[in-house]
Amino acid sequence: MSVLISVVVHTPTYSNLGDGLTYRHLNSLPVGTLVRVPLGSRETLGIVWNEPKNKTDWENNTENSAIKSIIQVLTALTPVSATWISLVDFSSRYYQRSPGEVALSALPPSLRDLDEIQLARRMDRFGKNKNKLNDSVQTRASEQQLQTLTAEQAHALGLMQNEQRVFLLYGNTGSGKTEVYMRRMAQILESSPDAQALIMVPEINLTPQLEQRIRSRFAKYGDDAIVSMHSGMTPALRLQSWLGAHTGHARIVLGTRMAVFASMPHLKIIVVDEEHDPSYKQQEGARYSARDLAVYRGHLEKISVILGSATPSLESWHHSRPAMDGQVAGRYLRIGMPTRLGESQMPKVRYVDMNLQPRQTVFSTVLLDAIQSKLANNEQILILINRRGYAPIIHCVECGWKSECAYCTAYRVFHKVDRTLRCHHCGFTQRAPRVCPTCGHSDLGIIGHGTEQIEESLNHLLMDVKKPDGSAVRIGRIDADTTRLKGQLENQLAQVHAGDIDILIGTQMIAKGHDFRHVSLVVALNPDSALFSSDFRAPERLFSLLLQAAGRAGRDPLLGMEQSCQMWIQTFFPTHPLFEHLKKYDFEGFAGQQLLEREQADMPPFVYQALIRSQARTQQVAQDFLNAVRDASTLLLDQLGIEPHVVVVYPAVAMEMQRVANVERAQMLVESGSRQALQVFLQQWQVYLHKLKKSHKGMIRWVIDVDPLQI
Ligand code: ADP
Ligand code: ZN
Ligand code: ZN
Repeated sequence: MSVLISVVVHTPTYSNLGDGLTYRHLNSLPVGTLVRVPLGSRETLGIVWNEPKNKTDWENNTENSAIKSIIQVLTALTPVSATWISLVDFSSRYYQRSPGEVALSALPPSLRDLDEIQLARRMDRFGKNKNKLNDSVQTRASEQQLQTLTAEQAHALGLMQNEQRVFLLYGNTGSGKTEVYMRRMAQILESSPDAQALIMVPEINLTPQLEQRIRSRFAKYGDDAIVSMHSGMTPALRLQSWLGAHTGHARIVLGTRMAVFASMPHLKIIVVDEEHDPSYKQQEGARYSARDLAVYRGHLEKISVILGSATPSLESWHHSRPAMDGQVAGRYLRIGMPTRLGESQMPKVRYVDMNLQPRQTVFSTVLLDAIQSKLANNEQILILINRRGYAPIIHCVECGWKSECAYCTAYRVFHKVDRTLRCHHCGFTQRAPRVCPTCGHSDLGIIGHGTEQIEESLNHLLMDVKKPDGSAVRIGRIDADTTRLKGQLENQLAQVHAGDIDILIGTQMIAKGHDFRHVSLVVALNPDSALFSSDFRAPERLFSLLLQAAGRAGRDPLLGMEQSCQMWIQTFFPTHPLFEHLKKYDFEGFAGQQLLEREQADMPPFVYQALIRSQARTQQVAQDFLNAVRDASTLLLDQLGIEPHVVVVYPAVAMEMQRVANVERAQMLVESGSRQALQVFLQQWQVYLHKLKKSHKGMIRWVIDVDPLQI
């Protein structure tokens, strides 16, 4: 005798299997049990899943001897929790992927390779360290004097203690949000000996200080009690962290978006720091938003979720709107903490109108003067430029040739360090030509500026400038090129912190989260392209980037620099409304104006969107495929009883970056005022997509992106 068991395994794309595969086993197994099963000729890791809804069909259909048996049950591990399974089920349905793919990608990869014995050995490692809590740590922790909360912090904490819901903690950089998270986490961890807390951050390597703060604050729980989860970890460490969380030894998980799926049986609170950050959205496989899933997970676990930001996403801003003019309040509770601690002010914002500068000016004279006066005070300067490399394009002055990529609809960027032209999309790299490849003319020019060039021209401009002690000005650069190797970013950041760098030039990497205490001038060079982007979220991202960058300045009240802290922006559009709002640090005004525009134009968060993207050998095929799907949708909507105006399917268009690595790309937008209607529709649509792909020769693949961030 044996019983049939439904098991999910890693199936890369939506397979229409919906639920799991069927296996036999001697006895029934609890849902959530980890097992090893045969799959084709291999053996793979699986999770026992809920039985399919129409159980009798399933049993009748599966009464044949071809059904294979489960090879091994990983009894060393307790099953994953029912809420975890619900979370995976929801995510897979919502983001249109298979539960197996979502579930198995959420497990550490090396779990797939371990057998029972190896696993048991890993588990033994816990407990050993647990009680090794050395006394000094304990005393240090207990002696740690906690600062008195400010009135704003105390108010926020009070509200959080009051009820279980989603909170949007809206506060300036330096307003003490992190302190509030840590206090709330501490209360919850104290309240029961097994309670667990999850705190998510956009990118861990950009915020090493946060990890240190959490480790020292919660040191009394021991070293094993705090684990990290992010993609930069070695497989062995990732496994160890996962096991720690799953077994409950880890009380705190600090992780990036993937951590939203951490198996935490006693999860009691979730914090999402910098909740607006686009890196919470996964861009491949199941394209989930970890912030949105955190909110859903909170709902499943019946626990509070704290979203924190100085510039909340407009979605969260909207969901936390107060009741007004007879309108009901949003689902989240917004808590404002407007005051920066230590009474430090945000820097004064100044715009340099580049229309009034000589053509080709990189640094206006006024800005150069400001830079020099900061240097004279031994203060640091941050320069933000959103392009790496030397120049985005090189061109021939004679015939107009430009450094296009042969494989993408993009220009190759000139990198002067190794004199190459590199495509930032497909990686195609060649030595930069000395003469024009088309006409042979030797007069090649550059268009635009990248970090390398800014570094070079500053070095040149400040060649003769000396600091007060007579030493030369030290200029550093942080971008994807200078931080490719492991540890490079950390090293460079440490140099800035140590004061070994006077001017730091970098891409948006440098705007995030760092606590650069001696910075008194932040400069943004030409951020204009986002003002007129076809992506309706570009202004939102720019505003939050600039505000975050501004927050880097003047963080050390003891230095008394804040009076003179400045943020300079060189722009061709100094009177643009976004800049007007930024000048006053008026996020609320900016958000209100953006939301009004979005409401009038029927854009998120007032409607729900999904994008279907296709990739094909030719643009024609890519679009034909999507339009065929679109044609089929009329019938489908009719079958589903959904009025055609409720779910609107727009015609296919070429993507802005139409070709990447010789693959043509098109996309089609689906929109609805009803999230549920959109969901029902997308689910049924999968069948058509699969069918139609076969009949379109030259189609490579399609993907569905629900709640896309980039359009
Ligand atoms: P945020 O997360 O909003 O940027 P933090 O919590 O990091 O703010 O606080 C900014 C700085 O102020 C930190 O150095 C922190 O240690 C300090 N701080 C936070 N709360 C208090 C308080 N109540 N009293 C004194 N200093 C505080
Ligand atoms: Zn030429
Ligand atoms: Zn390319």
